[in-house]
Amino acid sequence: MIAGNRTINYLRISVTDRCNFRCRYCVPASPFTVIEHEKIARYEEILRITRLGCELGITKVRITGGEPFVRKGIFSFLEQLCRLDALQDISITTNGALLTREKIKALIQMGIRRLNFSLDTLDPVKFFAITGRDRYHRVWDSIMTAHDLGISPIKINAVALRGFNDDEICAIAGLTKKYPFHIRFIEYMPMGDSDIERQQQILTREIHARIEATLGPLIPMEREYNDGPAKKFKLSNARGVVGFITPISSHFCSECNRLRLTSRGTLRPCLLNDYEQDILSPLRAGASDHQLKSIIESTLTHKPLFHSLNDPKAKNIPISHMNSIGG
Ligand code: SAM
Ligand code: SF4
Repeated sequence: MIAGNRTINYLRISVTDRCNFRCRYCVPASPFTVIEHEKIARYEEILRITRLGCELGITKVRITGGEPFVRKGIFSFLEQLCRLDALQDISITTNGALLTREKIKALIQMGIRRLNFSLDTLDPVKFFAITGRDRYHRVWDSIMTAHDLGISPIKINAVALRGFNDDEICAIAGLTKKYPFHIRFIEYMPMGDSDIERQQQILTREIHARIEATLGPLIPMEREYNDGPAKKFKLSNARGVVGFITPISSHFCSECNRLRLTSRGTLRPCLLNDYEQDILSPLRAGASDHQLKSIIESTLTHKPLFHSLNDPKAKNIPISHMNSIGG
């Protein structure tokens, strides 16, 4: 599928808006309700939309949430997804808290070998402060187990926030000296009514400079097929990679190859723009494959050329929260 001059081959599927964590940069600051069960796309509905997406050129899928592993039946859904021949790449973004050795083995068995974990701090007390849950050791154990079982690459997403984890940037980047992890610092995206202040946002150039000042030069790396938007570097003698995802300081919209399917069954052409197209209602009303494919294609005509998150005065900044879109 084509959107402007961009080829869209990547579908990011949010299987649930529910999460066992309450990360302060992700969920709304004010009380919020979850989507009613019957309004959430059933697995067979997601599989049908994905299959049709594949017929239109989707080859990569990432499963996200909320937290994907809180949804019942997720493993048998993943197994069925793995049977879609057109999919060359299936990965999952998770907070890791519900992953056990047995579950990671099951993922490997079905052919899923790429996991992204989210971990913003190496301090259990701060972990509780940001996620609202006392699960630091659980998450770290999952990462270590995944490493032990040969999951590769293990990507670790860290949102850098001033006054919270900025004093740990070097320790987090330094994990790449010991482990072959891809640590990816993500610039905080202010969405909806998050209780993180804009001033807490730390841009990549500052993170980059802090790392170099303490750990030495970051050597730029060649881009590879599965890189996504991360700009990749290596510390000398490191086993892993330090990456930067720069939605704020240098947006990558012109290279964006993604379409999102929310757990409510809406297609969302841009993470940072609230335009969504309902595909679940027509599907439930009996739309044919041909009609559903037309909906997918027409959604992409709304894929914006750039986002306006950098501009606090812009009118089209998203009010949706990341927990309901999946990041
Ligand atoms: N629950 C899973 C997890 O935490 O990995 C998957 C969903 S979560 C929304 C996906 C990613 O979005 C996480 O890595 C998280 O750090 C990131 N994220 C959430 N809110 C964000 C924000 N406001 N700015 C930047 N990244 C954010
Ligand atoms: Fe949940 Fe992930 Fe959002 Fe944290 S970042 S609240 S783990 S969806």
